[in-house]
Amino acid sequence: MCGRCCHDLLLPVTLAEARKWLGRGGQVDVLCEATPWPVEPDSTNAFAGYKRRRTFAASSGTLPIRVAVTLAASFAGACPNLGDDMRCGIYEERPFVCRVYPAEINPFIRLQQEHKLCPSDAWQVRTPFAVGGVLVDSATRVSIEQSRRAAEDEVNDRRALCERLHIDKASVANEGFLIVSPPREQLLAALLDTQAGNGPGTDNGAWTLISNRRATVDTLAKVGALSELDNGQPGDGYRYVGVQGAAADV
Ligand code: SF4
Repeated sequence: MCGRCCHDLLLPVTLAEARKWLGRGGQVDVLCEATPWPVEPDSTNAFAGYKRRRTFAASSGTLPIRVAVTLAASFAGACPNLGDDMRCGIYEERPFVCRVYPAEINPFIRLQQEHKLCPSDAWQVRTPFAVGGVLVDSATRVSIEQSRRAAEDEVNDRRALCERLHIDKASVANEGFLIVSPPREQLLAALLDTQAGNGPGTDNGAWTLISNRRATVDTLAKVGALSELDNGQPGDGYRYVGVQGAAADV
């Protein structure tokens, strides 16, 4: 109840959670990230398997890729559901990611207490939340499993959602994020269509990969991909946010 983790967020949500968030008047953005996937990794590669289950196969020019689509409830400042008393106004219906914090949904990221926003006394509870970096809280473990399952089960619906919204651009994974902010009513209608199972759901094969690094764009072009250098200008229907440490050539 310190409220520290409830400010200035892009909060990953499931499709059902996104519909509810929009229904309450909130904003939801769509983040698309692509990984070149020229060959199938070995089946013993656990990380590749995890990534594969959460992405859909597509292509950029002649380059096979896998695309991850994240819906994110977005807000600057305090979450619209955060009360003055620092209580969550939708506590019983809060998204999985809020139930899981400060634990990690990604099984390949270790819980590191020192990287979390929680005040130190929040960790001093009678029943430990984590021991030696390993999560032991059973309710949180259940929420993590439900969140992972939803992300995997929704992969095809997220692809169909992109088609309905005419989104065919993605950032290059690990370099930055491509963020589309559809009008609230348009996104809600597209989500409701997706829920009803109507409309498209096939790969249009024309994904363009966006980067703010000239070397990446040139390398992708050489292997047959459709690639563009982000020019840092608004008006392209998206905004690009480079990850820290990635050198921009804009
Ligand atoms: S929904 Fe509730 S728990 Fe989640 S960020 Fe908002 S106020 Fe915090």
